[in-house]
Amino acid sequence: MAKDHIPYKIYLEENEMPKTWYNVRADMKNKPAPLLNPGTLKPMTAAELSGVFCDELVKQELDDVTPYIEIPEEIREFYNMYRPSPLVRAYCLEKKLGTPAKIYYKFEGNNTSGSHKLNSAIAQAYYAKKQGLKGVTTETGAGQWGTALSMACAYFGLDCKVYMVKVSYEQKPFRREVMRTYGASVTPSPSTETAVGRKILAEHPGTTGSLGCAISEAVEAATTREGYRYVLGSVLNQVLLHQSIIGLETKAAMDKYGIKPDVIIGCAGGGSNLGGLIAPFMGEKLRGEADYEFIAVEPASCPSFTRGTFAYDFCDTGKVCPLAKMYTLGCGFIPAANHAGGLRYHGMSSVLSQLYADGLMRAISVKQTEVFKAAEYFARVEGILPAPESSHAIKAAIDEAVKCRETGEEKTILFGLTGTGYFDMTAYEQYNDGKMTDYVPTDEEIKASVSCLPKV
Ligand SMILES: *Cc1c(COP(=O)(O)O)cnc(C)c1O
Repeated sequence: MAKDHIPYKIYLEENEMPKTWYNVRADMKNKPAPLLNPGTLKPMTAAELSGVFCDELVKQELDDVTPYIEIPEEIREFYNMYRPSPLVRAYCLEKKLGTPAKIYYKFEGNNTSGSHKLNSAIAQAYYAKKQGLKGVTTETGAGQWGTALSMACAYFGLDCKVYMVKVSYEQKPFRREVMRTYGASVTPSPSTETAVGRKILAEHPGTTGSLGCAISEAVEAATTREGYRYVLGSVLNQVLLHQSIIGLETKAAMDKYGIKPDVIIGCAGGGSNLGGLIAPFMGEKLRGEADYEFIAVEPASCPSFTRGTFAYDFCDTGKVCPLAKMYTLGCGFIPAANHAGGLRYHGMSSVLSQLYADGLMRAISVKQTEVFKAAEYFARVEGILPAPESSHAIKAAIDEAVKCRETGEEKTILFGLTGTGYFDMTAYEQYNDGKMTDYVPTDEEIKASVSCLPKV
């Protein structure tokens, strides 16, 4: 039933909070392709995966049939400290744009880690603790994932080892100190602690590192140490499952007021926030119960959906991880050096890749100077300083709302505001100084990087 006044913020009561995650794979006719063992090219078995990930997460990773999976009580207790995240009706933005569209955003930045990544970090730390492990290892680039995981490990008393890309370690000392405050040990990568790190340092003395290299070090550290497993903050099926809390809360809150979104927009790096936000809505679409338009927004400098190839590829530059079938730019693809806006992963979640291949959602790419212009506009109107990643979705939502102004359509637009931008002020500085530029890779560059795809 539609209500007359929609509040600025729609919250859920504690007893209205989701008690299960939703696994969209259960409702997909075409399931996402399985991870392959890079040696045998056969689907990774639970036994093979259990050397890297903890057992319960392996089960979730491989489960394509169970639609609802219970959120353990201990995780729901932690969620209660910072959730529900606010679902905001952007009245001020609508007014400023002069649009008949109704705009809503789900804000995931109101916790200390500053992003949605905590939703999966706490789940992964819980299952590691439950299995009796000592600790977990991971990599972090910009630092959001490492921060979220540090908080989660502190809560459950787990050791947390973070390999942080050296250039970020040096340029983002505050992120590093947040992680250390939560008890994590943070090592600049490449390091001399691992065999792969020593090898890379010998081959490239003075290198400032890369995400691919940090992944390889974190995986080695987990698999060579008793009682440790590796954890990842995006891309994987299990991460999308945990992030469905975003969409489930949004849907429950909208249902309370009889609101039905027409367009649902999210930024896409590895696909976890977008996959989580759209999950229950996509479920309705897959079951033929409702229809929605889904839009993934990616940077023009790292356009895996819009210009990538749907194929099996390595998940990491070091080529130690399993192969995943996804839209990819090739695991050697590195966005141009002037790219400051995040979302720089070369591939995309297998779940979203399959949905996109089946025509169930669309994708667009936007240039970073346009993204920061939208971020500045949003900050000045709605008050929140957005993360550059989130601002990709803001840009697309504003464009949709402006279209409605022109056509007079009263569409309801929902977008995911994944985080705050306090730790991204160097990027904002570039923009404010007028020094930010755009780079769009040429067809030749993309052709060259996808030419190295493994032959499967
Ligand atoms: C990590 C991150 C993203 C991108 O990751 P996805 O897995 O694509 O969601 C987007 N926004 C913020 C704030 C992030 O920290």
